[in-house]
Amino acid sequence: MSPMAYDLVVIGAGVTGAGVARDAALRGLKVAVLERGEPGGATTAASTHLIHGGVRYLLYDRLTTHATCWDSGHIVRTARELLTRLPIVWPVYKGHTRGLETVETLFEEYDKFQPMKYGLPHMRLTPEAALRLVPGLKAEGLRGALVFDEWWVDAQRLAARTLESARAAGAEVLLHSPVDAVLRENGRALGVRTDGRELRAKVTVNASGPWVHKVAQLAGASLPLRLMKGTHLIWNDPKRVPVGLLLEAEDRQRYVFVVPSPLGTWVGPTDQPGPSDPDQTRTTPDETAYLLRSVKRYFKDWPDAPDSTIVGARPILGQPGAEKLLSRDFEVFDHETRDGIAGLLTIGGGKMSDYRVMAEAAVDAACRKLGSTARGTTQTLTLDGRPVGDIPDFLPPSRALKNFLKTKPRLRELHALGHLGAAFALHAARRAAGLCPIEDEAAFRRRYG
Ligand SMILES: Cc1cc2nc3c(=O)[nH]c(=O)nc-3n(C[C@H](O)[C@H](O)[C@H](O)COP(=O)(O)OP(=O)(O)OC[C@H]3O[C@@H](n4cnc5c(N)ncnc54)[C@H](O)[C@@H]3O)c2cc1C
Repeated sequence: MSPMAYDLVVIGAGVTGAGVARDAALRGLKVAVLERGEPGGATTAASTHLIHGGVRYLLYDRLTTHATCWDSGHIVRTARELLTRLPIVWPVYKGHTRGLETVETLFEEYDKFQPMKYGLPHMRLTPEAALRLVPGLKAEGLRGALVFDEWWVDAQRLAARTLESARAAGAEVLLHSPVDAVLRENGRALGVRTDGRELRAKVTVNASGPWVHKVAQLAGASLPLRLMKGTHLIWNDPKRVPVGLLLEAEDRQRYVFVVPSPLGTWVGPTDQPGPSDPDQTRTTPDETAYLLRSVKRYFKDWPDAPDSTIVGARPILGQPGAEKLLSRDFEVFDHETRDGIAGLLTIGGGKMSDYRVMAEAAVDAACRKLGSTARGTTQTLTLDGRPVGDIPDFLPPSRALKNFLKTKPRLRELHALGHLGAAFALHAARRAAGLCPIEDEAAFRRRYG
């Protein structure tokens, strides 16, 4: 066997692969990362661009909200200059599936995790305040609104800056380099081939997002994958709305964001089963119509057609159960135990908002194979290499509970609903005691300017 040039070769430079390359390079490993297009140009670019905990996961997957808020805090500290605090208004109307008190309970629970990512506590607004804050919002039936905040990030830039950080730490970066083969010998993966060039490595990490199953196939491995596609409609006007919105969608089952940003005003996403080949993922007219109807029902004069659309596919790995209960948790697959292919790992699932800890888990697994005891340090340095300073002492969720609930979607939902039920009783008592303020526009402006 010829000597290995790299400890690690990473396939894919979306935000996950870029994170893996950075983590590995900072541990002193010799690493190369290959990307067939531009960094972050695929799913990462098609995301809603929020570093968030996922407030709605509190309804069925509480530990993911916890885990994501926890890692988002690290991302805020390491990439602060890329992030903008975005206040988001959730207007509640007569006839909505979830009434004001239920939605406020949700945010009282979210407030428990918000400090992990420097989020501010929620506010409840009068209907008049909501109408003044969001001109054009329909008044009829409006009961009030809740306000919370998340971080907006140019997602592609986050991936590119993470990759630059990896390169600065010694990683070799090959863009426009599609991997067309995984090198194998005697049941081991030995690296990759791109454009006729071979890069040999002790460990190969498949971080190719919704393409993970196709890349795994190159090595003769298989992955249990479901692809869920998500479309956004884009209006070029960066400020069609002055604040973010989270709206109950037309089907009353889902919620869609309206996100004003330097990239335009985005409305979405949808969440539908997509084709098994991510290259065939397209926005369909029914998705566009669904999103349009979902936003137009709240506004007197929303334009009929977007300026453009963008679509991406979420890889959901190895999960049983109904689509509405699918967890956004991530997974590291070791193909040695799964398929008898040593030296090959796949990292997938998860969110941009926990890409740092996903990368750390993948490199931990790689280090176990390499016999390296080097520990991850990505949380201690900003993307441009400065120390982050003090790290607050928040704990991630219990790993044992997470593993136990992983393959039990109904139990996961019960766990979430149990917490919400208890919180609702407490909220009702606090509301009866006059302890839940309802605020006006001035209170919002004092906080968010
Ligand atoms: C509609 C939608 C909205 C979302 N919104 C949010 C959000 O607001 N916040 C959040 O935290 N998360 C969000 N997510 C999830 C988030 O986008 C993903 O978790 C994250 O972007 C995944 O990054 P990735 O690097 O794993 O995948 P990708 O960004 O897809 O990167 C994989 C890379 O692998 C490359 N690749 C594939 N095959 C090969 C090959 N053979 N050779 C070389 N390179 C290859 C691809 O070109 C691609 O760049 C959203 C997802 C979707 C679909």
